[in-house]
Amino acid sequence: MDEFLVIDHVSKSFGTQLAVGDASLAVARGESFSLLGPSGCGKTTLLRMIAGFERPDCGRIMVAGRDITALPPEQRPVNTVFQNYALFPHMSVWENVAFGLRMSRRPREEIRSSVDHMLDLVRLNEHVRKRPSQLSGGQRQRVAIARALVNNPQVLLLDEPLAALDLKLRQHMLMELKTIHEQVGTTFIYVTHDQGEAMSLSDRVAVMNEGRVEQVDSPGHLYENPRTRFVASFIGDANFFTGVVVEIQHEGYVRVLVDGLGSPLVLGSGDIASGHPLRLMVRPEKISLTLTRPSRVERVNAFPGVVEDVAYFGSHTRYRIRAGQHSILAQLQRSRFSGGEIDPVRGAEVWMSFHPDEGRVVHME
Ligand code: ATP
Repeated sequence: MDEFLVIDHVSKSFGTQLAVGDASLAVARGESFSLLGPSGCGKTTLLRMIAGFERPDCGRIMVAGRDITALPPEQRPVNTVFQNYALFPHMSVWENVAFGLRMSRRPREEIRSSVDHMLDLVRLNEHVRKRPSQLSGGQRQRVAIARALVNNPQVLLLDEPLAALDLKLRQHMLMELKTIHEQVGTTFIYVTHDQGEAMSLSDRVAVMNEGRVEQVDSPGHLYENPRTRFVASFIGDANFFTGVVVEIQHEGYVRVLVDGLGSPLVLGSGDIASGHPLRLMVRPEKISLTLTRPSRVERVNAFPGVVEDVAYFGSHTRYRIRAGQHSILAQLQRSRFSGGEIDPVRGAEVWMSFHPDEGRVVHME
């Protein structure tokens, strides 16, 4: 991967409050990348350091091989789309987008063609004379994006770009943002606390927790192979079990004695030694449910439980099931029960099972 934007051991505290602690990551040219984490995890502070609004206490920030750590915001090859869009209310759409180019005294013809091109790209060419107050939320956001892109930044920073929009518009703008990114090819960095947004907008996501970058990976990899309990539960729903390896089986499978569950579980785990404690994670949709005990061949990782709660979501149904000391979440597609089998109801006794390859070992802490 070419390392276009590099965050190199960057830290920032406000008084005694650590906002970002020793963050390192590299973003490729043209990548769509997200900083994802709960409120207070430091993602905005990291974005503001890339933009130049905050100075790191230590570490370096590089773009295209150039150290920009000490540069003021206006000298960086970076632009920001702020959460509130920060448009000039007294200017038209066209003037808002042209503002930066006019300030830098670019030739009139160049300004006209760049602004027209940008307004085409964000599909606002029919609204050029309107003021921001005459636009919808999504249109205002597109003005802000056009204004930030018109002077060709190498990196575009977007701070919670969809937070101000209602649900329908958010889903629409999500697609728009993907299209705009594909068309301009600029490196986009999103800050968001919404995992769905980060996963669907980005090539890769950095998950942050308490000022630290916990994992950087593609959305699929983060979901399938979270390294920590925090990442596993922030990226989706997860069932966790702790236990001890009691037997190494053939080809990298281990048998685990699980705390608070009557049955041992088998896990494809690589090289974990016998006697080793571990934490294992299973996604709810990886758990199969049957009303009768699975046949002998399917009996690995099968254990009984009692349904405590059922929630119907249309496309899927979720079950909370008591098994030993565990309350386990399972999720089924409706169609899986189409073979005439009855849906388990509250109080029903069911069997849960999952394939040994669907269990994941995550860090103990
Ligand atoms: P949110 O999604 O709520 O904006 P965030 O993940 O973006 O949160 P930051 O805004 O980067 O988190 O804040 C990280 C930590 O640093 C928080 O504990 C916050 O209170 C603190 N912090 C951020 N900016 C300042 C500041 N200017 N002065 C003092 N503390 C700050």
